[in-house]
Amino acid sequence: MNDEDHSRWRPVYFRSHFLFPYFGTFAKSFFLLMKIRHMKSGIYAVVILAFISGCTGHDKTGREGHSGDQATLGGAPHWSYDGEESPEHWAELSPDFIACAEGHFQSPIDLETYEARKYHGDILEFHYHASPIDVVNNGHTIMANIEERNHLLVNDEQSYELLQVHFHAPAEHQIDGIVYPMEMHMVHVNEESEYAVVGIFIKEGAENAILKDLWECMPTEYYQHNHGKESCDLRALIPENHAVIHYTGSLTTPPCSEGVEWYVMETPIELSKKQVMDFKVLYDHNARPIQDPEGRVVEEFN
Ligand SMILES: [Zn+2]
Repeated sequence: MNDEDHSRWRPVYFRSHFLFPYFGTFAKSFFLLMKIRHMKSGIYAVVILAFISGCTGHDKTGREGHSGDQATLGGAPHWSYDGEESPEHWAELSPDFIACAEGHFQSPIDLETYEARKYHGDILEFHYHASPIDVVNNGHTIMANIEERNHLLVNDEQSYELLQVHFHAPAEHQIDGIVYPMEMHMVHVNEESEYAVVGIFIKEGAENAILKDLWECMPTEYYQHNHGKESCDLRALIPENHAVIHYTGSLTTPPCSEGVEWYVMETPIELSKKQVMDFKVLYDHNARPIQDPEGRVVEEFN
């Protein structure tokens, strides 16, 4: 899970492309040509995809007040997955990050299904509908902010609103020691500002048509936003089999705040090898290492 989970933001869209469509196309072409002259070949391919998909970029200052951008652009300390800012040093970077070292309910963990308390029944209801998305490269991951209300209902009683979806490579959670190539986190919050994150493992296989739209809008530069397709059918991303592991943990990025309800689905979804590679060109190790479960026993609903 990502630090951007803390606040909802409503971007102010760059609308000039509606007024000057031809200028917009010209500007994109110019931008593309300039990019080609300077880009490495791997990134080049993603830029081409963004160009032909009709994604709408807007500026990359992060001025809309998005918490993640602020955290990196100024004020809050920088953190990363490398060197002196790597996960083992996160708590040293700020007093606000102390839970990263001293918390007792941290994430991710290895989900040991053979140790799990077993329950029957489907506890997750996804009240999702096709929604517009805004895709941002926040310097830690690729994230799609969801611009309409979608809800997750847990146990028929707890309602959470979907804020954003983002990705890690490799997967952060393990399941019985297995590490998938990627993991998607669907971050929800309720009216008490409590978080519920649905984790979905990603394995290599068939091309994913739903994520194809999002992938074509992946910004290659930090803090760049692209307005994605007008409607992204997120419900189609959810595996039909709702077998899920539940446990209580934390954000997997600074400040590593605890009290996060995790629902990690056992059935992976698929991305093509190329789709996985396209993500890894940008982020190939944005995963926090496995944390000590400290006696936590996970629950399996099947
Ligand atoms: Zn995450």
